[in-house]
Amino acid sequence: MRDLLARTAHELISALGTGEINHNDLQEAQFGFARSIDDQLNSFVCWDEEVEDQGWELQMDLDGPRQFSKLPYAAKDLFATRGLATTAGSRILSGFVPDFDATVVGHLRQAKNHLMGKTNMDEFAMGSSGENSAYGPSRNPWDLARVAGGSSSGSASAVAACQCFMALGTDTGGSIRIPAAFCGVVGYRPTYGLLSRYGMVAYSSSCDQAGTFTRCSLDAALAMNTMSHPDPLDSTCRVEAEIDYYGYASQPLHWNKLRVGVIRQFTDPTTVDSRVLENFERSLAQLREAGAEIIELDFSVSQYCIPAYYVITAAECSSNLARYDGVRFGAEPQGEDLLERYLNVRSEGFGEEVKRRILLGTYVLSSGYFDAYYNRARAMRAEITRSLNSMFNGVDVIACPTSPQLPFKLGEKMDDPVAMYMSDLFTVFVNLGGCCGISMPNGFAEDEGQKLPTALQFVCPAFHDSMLLRIASQFEALCDWSFQPPDWVTDRLAG
Ligand code: GLN
Repeated sequence: MRDLLARTAHELISALGTGEINHNDLQEAQFGFARSIDDQLNSFVCWDEEVEDQGWELQMDLDGPRQFSKLPYAAKDLFATRGLATTAGSRILSGFVPDFDATVVGHLRQAKNHLMGKTNMDEFAMGSSGENSAYGPSRNPWDLARVAGGSSSGSASAVAACQCFMALGTDTGGSIRIPAAFCGVVGYRPTYGLLSRYGMVAYSSSCDQAGTFTRCSLDAALAMNTMSHPDPLDSTCRVEAEIDYYGYASQPLHWNKLRVGVIRQFTDPTTVDSRVLENFERSLAQLREAGAEIIELDFSVSQYCIPAYYVITAAECSSNLARYDGVRFGAEPQGEDLLERYLNVRSEGFGEEVKRRILLGTYVLSSGYFDAYYNRARAMRAEITRSLNSMFNGVDVIACPTSPQLPFKLGEKMDDPVAMYMSDLFTVFVNLGGCCGISMPNGFAEDEGQKLPTALQFVCPAFHDSMLLRIASQFEALCDWSFQPPDWVTDRLAG
């Protein structure tokens, strides 16, 4: 049974449907394996014991659009899960057990998927490496001395190391795509509004978006079929029609009709690691050979993306995180009076990076600085969106490396917040502009004798998600790419 754990979800769902494999055996094998290697990875922060004991036997419903169903999966610790602790990787929420499910978790539950547990993450999703977690960092399955990427670190390492078939993440500025790139899996950030944000712990509400880690893009499309529905509980949810993403993504693509834009500023050899660039150039050559037209784009406002993003998200987080006062959620406050309790719970409950962002956000929103920082950042965001819209007038999809660098060592950037923020150089524009993006593994590179994954990102305009998923799945076919776990995981699966 263990040899099935490296397969893709859609293969498994077919095998479950034909009765070739048994649900209970699969579940048992998946839980057993995930737990047996989690000491090395620290992907999970808690397990759902109840589900583990349940076992189930179900009939497949083979009618209608294909669904992500009846598989074990994991959710970032940012999603509210009924009866299961939800801490957003923070001490301030320790002991908080929601009595409701986030909408997307509810949809997955209805489709009879089994939530195995919650995955590790940077506290409140603030970080690019996973190292800001109160539970310690997740490790990269390709080299345990390196970061898995953040903030959805545990979700990426879990899918890459065969601990689950799919994991939910969130992406405010790259938190799905960066860890997916670092761990060698597919990371999909849908258009803002296509998945409900209800039940997601808020960081920066105008950029936060749920999405998936999978082993191929068709699995991401399957998960969208199951999770993307209108939600009256989220006024920003903008699902107007039910779309069969899987059906659409499975169809062939006429490469010779596709115009692929390449942003000149994102292939600058002074900013991008030469090995990342080399693999990106190879991917472009494959696209060109298949018939795609490659068009160079000038994104002249690209240098404003990081500053605008970090001002806007800090401002929104300082407001969103004001609710953690020790009265309503999580950690028990100590102190003589209300103010002392309030100060204690926030000083002890929040980590350094979260405090830095709250301070920064409070500063840029204060009267006297509001216009100088926050309003200017909003103006830059509008300019970035305008620029993206005009680029999309001439191309169908944008391609760029997902990350300018290879996965770095644990601790390497912890003393330099700005260097850490620069990790998101190629991802934040998608969130600021409200588009959709997917990170696709596109090869390996070597660093200090370690084999490490690289990735390319495709970006399409808002609500062109089915096109994005089709391009991604046809790109996999074009490069003849299929998911492979690191060798030590394969050995452990066999052993
Ligand atoms: N690294 C970015 C940040 O710290 C993105 C995080 C995210 O997407 N949640 O804000």
